[in-house]
Amino acid sequence: MTAPLSSPVWHPYAHLKTQRAAPKVVGGEGPRFTLGSGETLLDATCSWWCMIHGYAHPRLVAAIHEQAGELCHVMLGGLTHEPADRLARELVRVTPEGLNHVFYSDSGSVGMEVAMKMAVQYHQLRGKSAKHRLLSLMKAYHGDTAGCMAVCDPEEGMHSLFAGYLPHHPFAPAPTAPFDAEPEAVASDLAALREVLERHHHKVAALLMEPLLQAAGGLNMTSPLYLRGARELCDEFDVLLVFDEVATGFGRTGRMFAADHADVTPDIMVLSKGLTGGYLGHAATLATDRVHDAFVGDTPEHAFMHGPTFMGNPLACRLALESLAVFEEEDYLGKIEELNRVLRETLLEDVELAVHPAVAEVRVLGATAVIETHETADLAGVGDWAREQGVWLRPIGRWLYTMPAYITEERDMRRITSVMKAWFLRR
Ligand SMILES: *Cc1c(COP(=O)(O)O)cnc(C)c1O
Repeated sequence: MTAPLSSPVWHPYAHLKTQRAAPKVVGGEGPRFTLGSGETLLDATCSWWCMIHGYAHPRLVAAIHEQAGELCHVMLGGLTHEPADRLARELVRVTPEGLNHVFYSDSGSVGMEVAMKMAVQYHQLRGKSAKHRLLSLMKAYHGDTAGCMAVCDPEEGMHSLFAGYLPHHPFAPAPTAPFDAEPEAVASDLAALREVLERHHHKVAALLMEPLLQAAGGLNMTSPLYLRGARELCDEFDVLLVFDEVATGFGRTGRMFAADHADVTPDIMVLSKGLTGGYLGHAATLATDRVHDAFVGDTPEHAFMHGPTFMGNPLACRLALESLAVFEEEDYLGKIEELNRVLRETLLEDVELAVHPAVAEVRVLGATAVIETHETADLAGVGDWAREQGVWLRPIGRWLYTMPAYITEERDMRRITSVMKAWFLRR
């Protein structure tokens, strides 16, 4: 029984029996892409949150062309090149104080694998080889490779199928206190985290978290105070703190990095999605001196044994440099603030939406907004319906969200939120 499709392309997360032919995208400009049919769709998701400058940004396109004429690729084993060196210096400059070392890889999942291996080997090199487990949070999503699946939410996550295949790690409850919670409200989240650390710290190398915004696991928006408390607990229990800023990095929560809201430096931080403005896959795992210096030593075991073929790809590094330059020169944090204002006004402050029987909660943080429903069925067909309205929406489970490109203009942002609301209120 084969699917009734003509293309051999196997699509991600697709049910082969019920999927329909995917529309073919032939181009894009700004916040919109164009289909072969001639339809133009306003992208509310900026292609899984990475196309932060929208499509066909002239400066990014020019950067690829220029770099392609100079050097498309060379191995980073034993060699280096200007874009890799310059980007590493730039990432050290813009990330929280103390993250001084940059390990490149080719995707967010691999960037997290690098972080996890680094954390385990760090403890091993310090003679603490019992610390070889990771502590993760419920509702977490860290990627689709085996190591990453094992630290995704073990119940709601789509990876429960592989439970028998994966290593077992301890989990702490997902934080519940919202972004603007009072310290007392965050205290019980931190008490729960402490309790798990007290029980498991002797075997835990690192605490992993998506700071402030647990994205694919249901857009759970949490408090900066939780990050501060987690930092203190990690120091107390000799556990490294790893921030997975693959989704939150580069402005998504309203600051350059989620860590900036809390003034916290994690020991290891992972960047990907927005890193290249989405134009090529790439990732960076940053580490502090403390982590890095543990690898300075005389034995063969001191080498960090990881090296993806495409790490530090010159095209990707050059794109990332251009992306960062545009971000800073064109005041993207200001643009994100404007988007946030529109998202609050049109979604958060909509009284009708808040009391709609299908709606459990509406949340907004930075350039991210979500309408959480009670059941997945509440969103059945929303993607097709939105397409008829000229908007590309792709919910995750019970969550109808937007993470627009930062160049999305107010008129288009309002168009996106009015279509999201209309699904509930005016269909
Ligand atoms: C998307 C995502 C990943 C995985 O990145 P890929 O590039 O898809 O491998 C990891 N962590 C978070 C928080 C993500 O949102």
